[in-house]
Amino acid sequence: MNVVIVGAGPAGLAAAEHALRAGAQVTVLDQAETPGGQYHRMLPEAYAAKRPDRIQHGRAEFDRRRRVLAHPRCRWWPGSTVWAFDRAEKRVHILRGPSDGSGRRRLTLVPDALILATGAHDRTLPFPGWELPGVYTAGAAQALAKGERVAIGGRVLVAGAGPFLLPVAESLLGVGAEVVAVLEANPVSTVRKGWSSRPWRLAAHAGKAGELARYAATLARHRVPYLTGRAVVEARGADRVREVVTAQVRADWSVVPGTERPYEVDAVCVGHGFSPQPELAVAAGCVLDDGFVRVDAAQRTTVDGVFAAGEITGIGGAVTAAAEGAVAGRVAAGGKPGPALIRARDRARAFAGRLAAAHPIGTAWRSWLRDDTIVCRCEETTYGELTRAAEDDSRPGAHALKLGTRAGLGPCQGRICGPTVSELCGGAERHHRPIAQPIRLGELAARTEGEPE
Ligand SMILES: Cc1cc2nc3c(=O)[nH]c(=O)nc-3n(C[C@H](O)[C@H](O)[C@H](O)COP(=O)(O)OP(=O)(O)OC[C@H]3O[C@@H](n4cnc5c(N)ncnc54)[C@H](O)[C@@H]3O)c2cc1C
Repeated sequence: MNVVIVGAGPAGLAAAEHALRAGAQVTVLDQAETPGGQYHRMLPEAYAAKRPDRIQHGRAEFDRRRRVLAHPRCRWWPGSTVWAFDRAEKRVHILRGPSDGSGRRRLTLVPDALILATGAHDRTLPFPGWELPGVYTAGAAQALAKGERVAIGGRVLVAGAGPFLLPVAESLLGVGAEVVAVLEANPVSTVRKGWSSRPWRLAAHAGKAGELARYAATLARHRVPYLTGRAVVEARGADRVREVVTAQVRADWSVVPGTERPYEVDAVCVGHGFSPQPELAVAAGCVLDDGFVRVDAAQRTTVDGVFAAGEITGIGGAVTAAAEGAVAGRVAAGGKPGPALIRARDRARAFAGRLAAAHPIGTAWRSWLRDDTIVCRCEETTYGELTRAAEDDSRPGAHALKLGTRAGLGPCQGRICGPTVSELCGGAERHHRPIAQPIRLGELAARTEGEPE
């Protein structure tokens, strides 16, 4: 059995480990040069860090997990971008080589089973001034801190929704930034209700509670306030962000008038959860639910021979991703996952359910927007242009809306604004694009090499 795994994050690495245990030949591909995905982001080797374990989550677990890449039945291809999937021939199209270089090779593989573990990227809702220099997504701030030891600013506000804000604040403190506050938009009642449903089952997530306690201790040591029911609703500054306006928000995230408060900052990072990266799954013809790839109890997608695991199937954190990867790896390799693997996956998914219930996105966030607030940053499409186009009866439908306003047609191809535009203007299905990742015309025209040894 020949299994190809796209993505070497927690889900992909666990899938490789379990596919190997079930006797398969495994190929792991990742567009990054190093394994680990978003969670196990590493400092470049050249930095020769004395204590990399101090900045990397679960370093010991990661060191154990990545050993699978050296297994004699495992091929590990870093710097390999899967840019297309031919659903008729079940052929995986790969570009190998640095993405900013010109010498990438075009290769294809035809696996017996394909596991998609391509993860998610962080989501930030628009607000007036969010396009100013100095406004970062929480994920970008985290990547710079963890992967480069760079702080996005000297005085930073962290805001949005979800527990991810806590490791981001910790990383910023770790690289010397002053974090003025961490703001969770959901009120304490929503957060408490989400986390405390079926409290007798919380014991199963004791590891997470320990992690949470560590973040709380770090914030307390640095005297960083953690405030709930408060959101960043505007960023101000002529050349770059100088000030952000925060406001108390209700459970639906509508602003309570008169509660606006400015903070002087030189950077702000904002994260409102994550959006999946399902482009390859869409190319394969997999059915999505709310943007996430639909899988059954064995992590099979709706397409024969194609499996999915990790954040492309739902947002649940690294432990859930790895638990799903383990099941996918076993089944894709023709094995049967034991009850312990299934139990671990189901327990982890229950944690994901709590996460979603405790940190939802309030529906009234659009009330923060003004007519001239940019929604699609690539094409500079404003909220006003979008709402007028959506109300125009002579050009109905998502396609006409996109062509009329150009929202989602820029270089990022709607990866950033896509979910926001869908929410503002009515849901739009993900369209099948034959090309899932950017490819140069020269590369497209180049000869494809066959299956390498
Ligand atoms: C920016 C960011 C930072 C995060 N930081 C933290 C944190 O500090 N702490 C925390 O608890 N959680 C963090 N998370 C959440 C956490 O990363 C996830 O829960 C976990 O990593 C999900 O694992 P995964 O294997 O599903 O996906 P990922 O870890 O995202 O791995 C997916 C991998 O697939 C690769 N890939 C995607 N598309 C292709 C393609 N077409 N071809 C080849 N390779 C491809 C990517 O390069 C990536 O390595 C972060 C998430 C993001 C988006």
